[in-house]
Amino acid sequence: MKLTSEQEMIQRMVREFAEKEFSELSVTIDKGGVYPTEALQKVSPLGLMGLFIPQEYGGAGADTVSYVLSIEEIAKVCASTATILAVHNSLVCATLNKFGNEEQKKKFLAPLAQEGLGAFIIAEPDEIKVTPEGDEYLLNGSKKYVTSGGEAEYYLMLPTEGDKCFIVSGDADGLSFGDAAGTIGLRGAVTRPVIFDGVKVPGENLIEGDGMASYALDEFHIAIAAVCAGISRAALEHSVDYSLERNQFGMPIAFFQAIKWKLARMYEKAQTSEILALEAARAKDEKMNFSDKSKVAKLYASEAVTWVAKQGVLIHGGTGYTREVPLERYARDARAMPLIGGNTESILDSLAAGLFD
Ligand SMILES: Cc1cc2nc3c(=O)[nH]c(=O)nc-3n(C[C@H](O)[C@H](O)[C@H](O)COP(=O)(O)OP(=O)(O)OC[C@H]3O[C@@H](n4cnc5c(N)ncnc54)[C@H](O)[C@@H]3O)c2cc1C
Repeated sequence: MKLTSEQEMIQRMVREFAEKEFSELSVTIDKGGVYPTEALQKVSPLGLMGLFIPQEYGGAGADTVSYVLSIEEIAKVCASTATILAVHNSLVCATLNKFGNEEQKKKFLAPLAQEGLGAFIIAEPDEIKVTPEGDEYLLNGSKKYVTSGGEAEYYLMLPTEGDKCFIVSGDADGLSFGDAAGTIGLRGAVTRPVIFDGVKVPGENLIEGDGMASYALDEFHIAIAAVCAGISRAALEHSVDYSLERNQFGMPIAFFQAIKWKLARMYEKAQTSEILALEAARAKDEKMNFSDKSKVAKLYASEAVTWVAKQGVLIHGGTGYTREVPLERYARDARAMPLIGGNTESILDSLAAGLFD
């Protein structure tokens, strides 16, 4: 796909910014399981908190292709920060933008698209129960593993029936958060249980719309495919460099066909992941149906990155298994990708159902 000069400019700006600001920070974030508050403060002046949200609602007004390029560049350096941004932009801001009314967009979307942070909860009725009470709704229950749980200003709580969601302020009475889950990867994208104990949500915080859950997940699939493409690209670049530096049997290991073919396969998968993410983004920008394209992109890229990161560890030999190089981090971060935002089985079910329509 030929990029416009604006898309190239945004990609270059985010790449330079991510390399300068996140290279060292990403190691600290991963080692300590530290939520990247500092990193997020730095990205908001670049417009990355609402990149494809229209300017009238506080966003940068860029297209989804520019967003994919940006998320990929951030993920190359820090997949945790990229995942937090993906949740915020693709699940929270995009849902508000598509389904919110004018008042809700002005009240909630505009501050979120500037510098506030949103988290997203998709919950079965046996996880969070919703009871109408006059003009309000009463929320009771909890959801485990919520990215940015305890950190976000707003929570979009979407029951799995999928045609409505509730905007809950982070300081609402009755809302609390459990301990951070000790995840093996994406350690900076801290997840916590979010607990609703009689949380009252006013009627004006209810957003309704057919197909809301699947729309939100389709948006997210594009972003997660971009995160995967970024991790794959980082694993590839490190592996190419290492294969030229590391000598065995009197020559750089890059000269061995077994290594070259691994690198070529890694390139094929990183490249395909990026192309699929961009194609889904382009379809969305051109107002086409992007549902299948986003599912295919997420399915492919999340499986590819798991393989690519593993090959990166192997090319680095014993060093790949240490914290001297970031390959082991890429492999741990990659493991989350098939799980989050619609797991592999649910995407397969949905794609298969479409084949029999
Ligand atoms: C890093 C991370 C971040 C997360 N962030 C959020 C968040 O921000 N908000 C949020 O709401 N949730 C979040 N989650 C939760 C996530 O959405 C769920 O963990 C995920 O949907 C899987 O659900 P589960 O853990 O209950 O697994 P289960 O549904 O119990 O799955 C267990 C196993 O069964 C398989 N399986 C499930 N259903 C089927 C089926 N129909 N057919 C075949 N196999 C099936 C699964 O693939 C898996 O292998 C996050 C999870 C992780 C790991």
